[in-house]
Amino acid sequence: MVEKVDFIKEDLIFSLLEKGKITDRNEIREILAKARECKGISLGEVAKLLYLEDEELLEELYDVAKYIKNKIYGKRVVLFAPLYTSNECTNNCLYCGFRHDNKELHRKTLSLEEIVEEAKAIERQGHKRLLLICGEDPRKTNVKHFTDAMEAIYKSTDIRRINVEAAPMTVEDYRELKKAGIGTYVIFQETYHRETYRIMHPVGKKANYDWRITAIDRAFEGGIDDVGVGALFGLYDYRFEVLGLLMHCMHFEEKYGVGPHTISVPRLRPALGAPLKEIPYKVTDKDFKKIVAIFRIAVPYTGIILSTRERAEFRDELLSVGVSQISAGSKTNPGGYQEDDDHADQFEISDNRSLPKVMETICQQGYIPSFCTACYRRCRTGEHFMEYAKAGDIHEFCQPNAILTFKENLMDYADEPLRKMGEEVILKALEEIEDEKMKTLTIAKLEEIEKGKRDIYF
Ligand code: SAM
Ligand code: SF4
Repeated sequence: MVEKVDFIKEDLIFSLLEKGKITDRNEIREILAKARECKGISLGEVAKLLYLEDEELLEELYDVAKYIKNKIYGKRVVLFAPLYTSNECTNNCLYCGFRHDNKELHRKTLSLEEIVEEAKAIERQGHKRLLLICGEDPRKTNVKHFTDAMEAIYKSTDIRRINVEAAPMTVEDYRELKKAGIGTYVIFQETYHRETYRIMHPVGKKANYDWRITAIDRAFEGGIDDVGVGALFGLYDYRFEVLGLLMHCMHFEEKYGVGPHTISVPRLRPALGAPLKEIPYKVTDKDFKKIVAIFRIAVPYTGIILSTRERAEFRDELLSVGVSQISAGSKTNPGGYQEDDDHADQFEISDNRSLPKVMETICQQGYIPSFCTACYRRCRTGEHFMEYAKAGDIHEFCQPNAILTFKENLMDYADEPLRKMGEEVILKALEEIEDEKMKTLTIAKLEEIEKGKRDIYF
């Protein structure tokens, strides 16, 4: 049995939120000025920002978030796609279409061959990075299910990085995932509020809050130092969730000397056969944008991931306030890249644009689509990644690697209009590389790609 954790301090969260309600404009401006130094802000300061409603101050918050994003990550936006391997699940989360008692769902666990076919379909879209994901069913989707899938995909496709989003495992299992070449291990706590967690997860292994919240500790013990966290916004008060999630991040910093690599911000969507018909704590677009901007400034070195749960235009808008990774061209049913089945989805997707269409809008907004997988392959993960990031060096790698992988994509997958638009973006992005030596090296590598060489990176 896992012990009750003490690092999510609910009383402290509530008292910070109480204090956060009282604040004046000067204080907010002082917090924003501090945030501009890219060193993060305290939980008490986050609490104050969470109550911001004033449009003028909100614009100032967005402005700081944008500044931090550009300074640390440059202009690149990393792209990936989820690969659902199974929708069978022994849990009964009230909000999810995969829940055990959902009789309306067509159940399916993909065979290894089918998984590879899906990965190939994702690759054909132009992706190089994917996220393996499924329900929790120990008989069908144990660690071997993941490691076999990873081995087969790495062997038979040009997918270069496989992240895994899976239910909590043992230290031994995480060791296996590490051996098989996992990129990031992702798991969402769903809600940091214990009582809400208890209500939302009535039965099954997932009913245990502590087993879930300690999953990443076990992953660290198993040698995985690249991890992603998240909360499902809409289950409980978003202000509580933001502070809970940041406390979770602080726990990793204190214990392992490194925070999570990414934070995901899923927002609750309608799901077929889910008993939760109303969203208990609705998060408006205005609040959601504020949440993203606050994460950007609170933990400047942590990537922020946004999925296709959000609408196309809103996703485009959120790029400017801090999102650094997005999924595109996604399906949420096992086998979905070859055959749609709206009775097998986990939840409804909002952004149905194809990958090239998403790339086009990224370019139009002045960003560079990136298919980079270099950090993980150069062992710039965990503490090493943070060393580079905190020294301001990660930007130096991100921009050139984004340019190189975008170029590959344009040559191998794009139609003429996108290629033309992309070449212009690349020229502009090259100019922005400040280090002359790096610029020359990048141009040389671009020429190699023109001649047919692939997978070159810094
Ligand atoms: N089954 C594993 C687990 O629960 O950890 C793997 C992840 S599950 C397939 C993916 C995530 O989808 C969940 O952690 C949850 O946050 C999110 N999710 C579930 N139902 C959702 C809904 N109706 N709308 C939006 N996100 C949802
Ligand atoms: Fe199963 Fe995960 Fe859905 Fe819960 S969220 S029902 S554990 S797939």
